[in-house]
Amino acid sequence: MELVLASNNPGKAEELSGLLAALGIRVIPQSQFSTPAAEETGQTFIENALIKARNAAAYSGRPALADDSGLCVDALGGSPGVISARYAGVDADDAANRERLLRELGDSEERSARFVCLMVCLTGPHDPLPLIAQGEWAGEIATAARGDGGFGYDPVFIPRGDTRTAAELPPEEKNRQSHRGQALAALRERLPQLLQS
Ligand code: IMP
Repeated sequence: MELVLASNNPGKAEELSGLLAALGIRVIPQSQFSTPAAEETGQTFIENALIKARNAAAYSGRPALADDSGLCVDALGGSPGVISARYAGVDADDAANRERLLRELGDSEERSARFVCLMVCLTGPHDPLPLIAQGEWAGEIATAARGDGGFGYDPVFIPRGDTRTAAELPPEEKNRQSHRGQALAALRERLPQLLQS
């Protein structure tokens, strides 16, 4: 079974390929079909996930999987939320986004946050009934970045019940707990059926 992955983020592609390989599903990056990046104009994670999945399915002519994910920080009213990837500006890199987050929070003691993942799988661009799953990973924002693993905000996110940042977790451990791992687990049961239909 094959699924086109609607993402150009190598860190995410690597994580999802690992998670899906365990289900016997081969992930093909959308770049193999010269898919242009979809404009993420939604105000919610689910809107953006659907936009990305439809775009990848349209260009590839195959079933597509998209996730839209991000970090929601309680003391910042849920920011950076859907603009997590461009929090410090449209061309901002992960380090710049983390720096802005730490600056915005300052020395606030209220540092609770969660990673959120909305995952969508559809058989084609006109599929009226996409599979949708959601995962959440609760924790808090560290006062400084630590760790070399993962990507994005991992070095400043300490999962609840842990003292390590997500960037200090072995990849398998992150996959087991993470918002993406949880969303995928929720999708898992119904995925093979969708791909065979
Ligand atoms: P997306 O590619 O539009 O879903 O944007 C997701 C952005 O949220 C990424 O660029 C990261 O900044 C952040 N993000 C999502 N998932 C993770 C994660 O597992 N670790 C760290 N940052 C993440």
